[in-house]
Amino acid sequence: MNITEIFHSLQGEGPLIGLPASFIRFTGCLEPYCPWCDTRYALHESTEMTLGQIVDELKNYPGKTVVITGGEPFLQWDAGLSELHTELIRMGYAIQYETSGKTGLPMIDDAVVVCSPKFIDSTWRFDPSNLGKVHYYKFLAGNHESLTGILSFIHENAIAAGQVYVMPIGMTRDEQLRTMEMVFDFCRDNGYRMTPRLHILTFDNRRGV
Ligand code: SF4
Repeated sequence: MNITEIFHSLQGEGPLIGLPASFIRFTGCLEPYCPWCDTRYALHESTEMTLGQIVDELKNYPGKTVVITGGEPFLQWDAGLSELHTELIRMGYAIQYETSGKTGLPMIDDAVVVCSPKFIDSTWRFDPSNLGKVHYYKFLAGNHESLTGILSFIHENAIAAGQVYVMPIGMTRDEQLRTMEMVFDFCRDNGYRMTPRLHILTFDNRRGV
């Protein structure tokens, strides 16, 4: 598998926010890339690792929660991630996946799949076959136009309010702080949950946290 980094931190956003976890960042994503991508290094910085090497690295870290992220991790489902999933479950790990949903997802019922659909060049880059395979949606909001698009996506795809998190865009602390009030009002008015990005608020744009 092509891996960009493995590290231990707190989950900074979404349903597991604040939870200590180990992170496996898979390399590579699908074009078009998001102009606001804050993990561009994950598009190309890669070390090839076997399943055994990944598991050995994880054993250096405390706890039994692992976040599998990217890049787009599901691009490597058939290249080893499927087997890694089975092994981690066997070892007693709780797994959370982070995906854009740009690619087709497998049906997973023993882990949490969090999808952050991307609206790029006026189009949602989301494979509709993934509806029903995603447990939670995490939308990035940067301006009022993006909030309108998020509402349309939710209604057109009949997504339940309990599955929805909205997150202020922000590759830096200042950018996120500027957007939070708008997202707060939107979530309150529409009955959705809001998630900040704790790692950005805490460390600004530091990598590996
Ligand atoms: S889907 Fe994620 S990893 Fe891929 S380009 Fe967009 S923000 Fe970056």
